[in-house]
Amino acid sequence: MFYPLTVRDFLDRAEQVYPDRVAVVDEPDQPAPGLGSLTYRDMAALARAQAARLDRLGVPVGGRVAIVSQNSARLLTSFFGVSGWGRVLVPVNFRLTPPEIDYIVRHSGASVVYADPACAGVLDTLHVKHKFVLGGGTGDEELYLHDTAPEPWTAPDEGATASINYTSGTTARPKGVQLTHRNLWLNATVFGLHTTISDRDVYLHTLPMFHANGWGMPFGVTGVGGRHIVLRQIDGAEILRRVRDHGVTLMCAAPAVLNAVLDAAADWDGGIPGRDRVRIVCAGAPPPTRTIERVMGELGWEFIQIYGLTETSPLVTVNRSRAEWDDLSGSERARKLGRAGVPALGVRVTTDAEGEVLTASNHNLDGYWEQPEETAEAQEGGWFHTGDGGHVDDEGYLVISDRKKDVIISGGENVSSIEVEDVITSHPAVREVAVIGIPDEKWGELVTALVVADASGLTAEELTAHCRSRLAGFKCPKRVDFVESLPRTATGKLQKFKLREPFWNG
Ligand code: AMP
Repeated sequence: MFYPLTVRDFLDRAEQVYPDRVAVVDEPDQPAPGLGSLTYRDMAALARAQAARLDRLGVPVGGRVAIVSQNSARLLTSFFGVSGWGRVLVPVNFRLTPPEIDYIVRHSGASVVYADPACAGVLDTLHVKHKFVLGGGTGDEELYLHDTAPEPWTAPDEGATASINYTSGTTARPKGVQLTHRNLWLNATVFGLHTTISDRDVYLHTLPMFHANGWGMPFGVTGVGGRHIVLRQIDGAEILRRVRDHGVTLMCAAPAVLNAVLDAAADWDGGIPGRDRVRIVCAGAPPPTRTIERVMGELGWEFIQIYGLTETSPLVTVNRSRAEWDDLSGSERARKLGRAGVPALGVRVTTDAEGEVLTASNHNLDGYWEQPEETAEAQEGGWFHTGDGGHVDDEGYLVISDRKKDVIISGGENVSSIEVEDVITSHPAVREVAVIGIPDEKWGELVTALVVADASGLTAEELTAHCRSRLAGFKCPKRVDFVESLPRTATGKLQKFKLREPFWNG
């Protein structure tokens, strides 16, 4: 028998098996009135009410619905309320500027945009049929139509697009990664298998839900009846407090979040919350071995590394301490856990002659939205070309060594260096620029601009202000160095590896 895999399965099971359990505890400190604690019965009712509202707005199956929001119970419920009835969720990075969001809304063809009150200003700039503030102004009636059953999704299709997640890559404009129900379903369940999620888990949302759909945890944790604790803003001490107050057992985060928690732990009075209970899944950049050792030693939390991309839903490899390592010292185990990991179940990983990491699995994207050429190039030969450089070591573990594509990852967010270069060169005093990532304890990589300027006396402050008015804050250079010239090949191509070298040595 063939039965299509759709994201509704996760919510349907939770509602059927755990209707009275607390499903989600919303962020208490947010501009809209929070939704408080919702049971799985409540959450399923809200998802249906959202689908009914979209029926009323005339959004067809396959229609795109964009949401620009910090983590919230409304966003979490939308993974089901939008995609669960055959529509396509476009979760948008709330840190982007209005022109960046406008591009995504236009490119995806979204006919409805919801924005958190903190991002409500963007709505004025968008040309879109329906735009609403989440929970603000007129309340939730624009999001939920209660007491009306939604039209059923008559032909559920696991090959249908469930979400389009915009990600910065090698191009100046972000690309829309089309993920199908099948992609999301298998990523969530395989991820859940490797992290052994269960109905006893209390999951803290330290990862932005817009980023690769929170790596699939919104689905997996729901499917097993775990509890979601919504966190709107990253703050190390607040993470420790939530772990203590809610009995958190699991979270996912970029290395920058680990550092924030370690800093807060140093000032924490009493025992560290979650010792010998919490497991933390880390990806986005290679975490320093020392950080891994400190997470295990100072926090007493289990450290699990994964590697992946938005294009792979994201799970590719996983590195979790195995029985053979039980007798190793903390530092030896940290060294072993510092690698990206071994292929997850059902995932194939290899490297090509140039050392680029290739992967094939059911998590790989269907395509880049309306970019068939980019799609064909990325999936050439039946493998997804990650743009990451690496090798498989003698224990079979993938080690990521560099990035072939021009992407900087700062605080877990992708920054296209080309996009930042575009903005910097739009300043009249700039002759040439190269934007690179340099290693940084806190951010992983620091967006750094090497600038050749004319004689007009341009300052780093002026240039940063110029960027701030045009780019999201996380993309703006945190460091500006003025240089005489930039190294180029005979054909005029910038040799970025030469620029990076002095910073990355050692
Ligand atoms: P994104 O699509 O925004 O999730 O970014 C994916 C990129 O993050 C990958 O192509 C890698 O460059 C980087 N990345 C993710 N996980 C790891 C990891 N465990 N180690 C090193 N880099 C990683």
